[in-house]
Amino acid sequence: MLKKLFQSFRYPLRYTQHIQGTPKVLNSDQHSLERAKFSRYAVNIIERLQNAGYQAYLVGGCVRDMLLNITPKDFDVATSATPEQIRNEFRNARIIGRRFKLVHIHFGREIIEVATFRAHHPQNYEAANTNQSSRNESGRILRDNVYGTLEEDAQRRDFTINALYYDPVSNHILDYDNGIHDIRNNLICLIGDPMQRYQEDPVRMLRAVRFAAKLNFGIEKHTAAPIHNLAPMLREIPSARLFEEVLKMFLSGYAANTFKILVDLQLFDPLFRASAEALKYNPIYTHTLISEALIRTDLRIKQNKSVTPAFLFAALLWPALLMRALRLQERGMLPKLAMQEAAHKLIIEQCQHITIPKRFTMLIREIWNIQERMLYRSGKRADLLLNNPRFRASYDFLLLRESAGEQTGGLGEWWTNYQNANDSQRRNMIHNLDSKRDRVGDDLKKRCSNNTKRRHSSINAAGAASE
Ligand code: ATP
Ligand code: MG
Repeated sequence: MLKKLFQSFRYPLRYTQHIQGTPKVLNSDQHSLERAKFSRYAVNIIERLQNAGYQAYLVGGCVRDMLLNITPKDFDVATSATPEQIRNEFRNARIIGRRFKLVHIHFGREIIEVATFRAHHPQNYEAANTNQSSRNESGRILRDNVYGTLEEDAQRRDFTINALYYDPVSNHILDYDNGIHDIRNNLICLIGDPMQRYQEDPVRMLRAVRFAAKLNFGIEKHTAAPIHNLAPMLREIPSARLFEEVLKMFLSGYAANTFKILVDLQLFDPLFRASAEALKYNPIYTHTLISEALIRTDLRIKQNKSVTPAFLFAALLWPALLMRALRLQERGMLPKLAMQEAAHKLIIEQCQHITIPKRFTMLIREIWNIQERMLYRSGKRADLLLNNPRFRASYDFLLLRESAGEQTGGLGEWWTNYQNANDSQRRNMIHNLDSKRDRVGDDLKKRCSNNTKRRHSSINAAGAASE
């Protein structure tokens, strides 16, 4: 894997060759794109903008993906028209965005994103303050609304394969920085000086990983080299933006591959610090529970089944949860309370880096809580739990834990059989449990009731949902 990632490159100092003003122009004989395969709305927008005297192209992921025979997620248009000029041309256009001012043009449920050409940023902090753009002391771009020429727009894009411009009217591709070459050679290569480009926007490190995983490309060696040193810069990124990026990385159908590359490049640590620490002590979870959860997520996406970020985060954080809970138990806290306390603190801590919305943190907590509730099956409890809307996710999670070697006393198998059983078989299964007095649950209950006072104060402190 590492070998593939750090493929050596034919032009070792390539990033010093800055984009020249003149692009390579590929005519219809030299590329495989067909205008009819692109969104007709996007093509229509381009025709109208060009007729109104502006430059306009399809750009970014849709050109890259079409060249690779992948169905694009969306169709982005870049133009010389400003957002206001675009809005004047299209009644169905809305200006959006703060960091990047963009225009969304609505056609029923389809939205085409139209962006005005942008220029690079002044490199030093003082210069930045005299312009519309601004950077912080470490070079990170905070606002990005400096309009520019087509050439400048190509230069400020992240990777060469994302800087290809397709004109569906003339059927030409403009290639400013060897994007076609890199597509043919399966390479993710930053435009410009990699160190500076990551400092401007550290999220580009995650984008490199995302595209490498999605396209099964290698990361060019100069593009990969600075990541190790610059990875901690991810901690400066607003936590809400990181949540969006993490979702794109893990919910696009390539999560398992993404995770491997993140770990190889040591980018997992700044995103999930507590988990990375726990995985050092308990590496088995990397190759079992977490990898399995990601493989299953990818499979569900390929089968067009729903996936929830909560399940993913529940898995990514589980090794850290266990480690924290164990530490609390060693200090004398009861197992159940230790889990609740650890869960509460872990989620607060994780949300400081990656804002997980409350609807998902609640679901994560439920999946974790149900792990314990699945022990108590006597009377009507098993049926009640089976009807819980979170049961299926929690049961899948239990199986993942077992795949990591956690000893559950055959709980996964019991619940599998219970779901497959008819009514009378289920009654028998519960009866057999009753005769064994559902021991694990009863013992724990007895211990808990001896500590009622302590239990209540701890649960309140943890704000945890008890059974
Ligand atoms: P996909 O939509 O398939 O995830 P994409 O390449 O279209 O991939 P987007 O996030 O939609 O990715 O961005 C559109 C284009 O905008 C990119 O192809 C790239 O040219 C440019 N871009 C996006 N984010 C950045 C960034 N952080 N730095 C520089 N350029 C960027
Ligand atoms: Mg896109």
